[in-house]
Amino acid sequence: PPRLRFAPSPTGFQHIGGFRTALFSWLYARHGGGQFILRIEDTDTTRTVEGSVEDILQGFKWLGMDIDEGPTIGGPYGPYSQLQRKSIYQYYAHKLIESGHAYKCYCTPERLDQMRKEREAKKLPPRYDRRCRYLSAEERAANEAAGLKYTVRLSMPLEGKTVVHDELHGDMVFENSNLDDIIILKSNGLAPYHLAAIVDDHLMNITHVLRGEDWISTSPYHITIYRALGWEPPRIYHVSNVLGKDKKKLSKRRNAPSWSDFKRQGYLPEAVFNFMALMGWSYDDKTEFFTKEELIRVFTLDRISVASGLYDPDKLLWMNGVYIRKLSLDELVDRTIPYMERPEAEGGLPDSVARPLDREYTKRVLELEQERMKTLSDAAEKTSFFYLKEINYDASMLIQKKMDAESTRNALQHAYTLLSGLENWDHEIMEQPMRDLAQQLELKPGQLFGAVRVAVSASNATPPLFQMLEVLGREVSLKRIQDAIN
Ligand code: GLU
Repeated sequence: PPRLRFAPSPTGFQHIGGFRTALFSWLYARHGGGQFILRIEDTDTTRTVEGSVEDILQGFKWLGMDIDEGPTIGGPYGPYSQLQRKSIYQYYAHKLIESGHAYKCYCTPERLDQMRKEREAKKLPPRYDRRCRYLSAEERAANEAAGLKYTVRLSMPLEGKTVVHDELHGDMVFENSNLDDIIILKSNGLAPYHLAAIVDDHLMNITHVLRGEDWISTSPYHITIYRALGWEPPRIYHVSNVLGKDKKKLSKRRNAPSWSDFKRQGYLPEAVFNFMALMGWSYDDKTEFFTKEELIRVFTLDRISVASGLYDPDKLLWMNGVYIRKLSLDELVDRTIPYMERPEAEGGLPDSVARPLDREYTKRVLELEQERMKTLSDAAEKTSFFYLKEINYDASMLIQKKMDAESTRNALQHAYTLLSGLENWDHEIMEQPMRDLAQQLELKPGQLFGAVRVAVSASNATPPLFQMLEVLGREVSLKRIQDAIN
């Protein structure tokens, strides 16, 4: 069975593009009845941001992506944080030295800096001049005796080509003359990504590696390490980046959203999950809605597209609306109330509305709004007039097309009289008499209804008027119409 990993560096939150790649791995692991592993690549301690791992774990939880092995739950191939695997990488770095595939480099940071500057001046990419690769045995012994600090560098082949087979891109060919003797063990004893990830993918029995296409240029080093250690590389998939609508790569710096933004904005995790799966993968180019179970059943890696996935926020919003309409009313209520009960400053109902909300009343309110909601956080704004004691609006809003203040007042007065005389406060009973009234007043129904709508809701965009009056109740509705007249 397949074993796939997500191997983030804890350098801050992961945006939706990173989670997308994790989702592909998760789906394929589940599809094949295998394991999904979380490994934390934290050896670049200067970039570590407190709370990153926690954020990723919470994101997985929110999205419903469970982990089989990882830093918090452990597993047979642990530890799953690279800082705790330091000595393993040191062992392999020295093994590579012994087999002649790597060497100690004693060059000082100053020398390397100088070299970088010189190459930069000539507009050349940084590269090590390989001086320490050719030290004599005596020079090496002298450096050791002097206790010089060293890094370990990979001895890359100097000529010919390195071919990396990628499952999505095919054979990728690299000229060795363009490659560098990269560092595989730093002078502080920590391994950079290049060694640590390879060693871990092997020791953790990873069968398929999905990672961002930014890593393509480093893949010849990785394949060289696999070969030098006598290991069979896993299947490698360089997955295209997710682009924003401006066709630029999503990035934290450019405010790419993370799972917690979606949560806060009232997206359903199942909608985000479905949407993410389609960023760079498709089943048949037309099916858009998949449950998690369906995705697990149909998800195969060969359908990952080589072209970039697109993050289209409008599409996500639309999809989320479809998912909201699919919810049962009870589910909608349970999931929306926490959003409505947030403080006003965080997008909840006005603070003057008492919490907790009355569930039965809210259920009747949301029944009217479900059709129009695109996110769960929409509800607060759309429904606040159902909860407020006083509503505020500009009196001019009452005046409908081709009407004036006088005819509006008159219409509202008649509506008040009619509605207050109704025996049952039931939307089905209201409609016909109100239509008749409009005709009698020589108004279009829209004019009369529009004025009443504003009077009771302070808004022009609301659910069907009479259902809304029914939910608001006789007392509140009549009072608001009365207030509008005065
Ligand atoms: N630690 C790397 C990153 O954060 C992981 C790359 C990989 O998946 O191998 O991008």
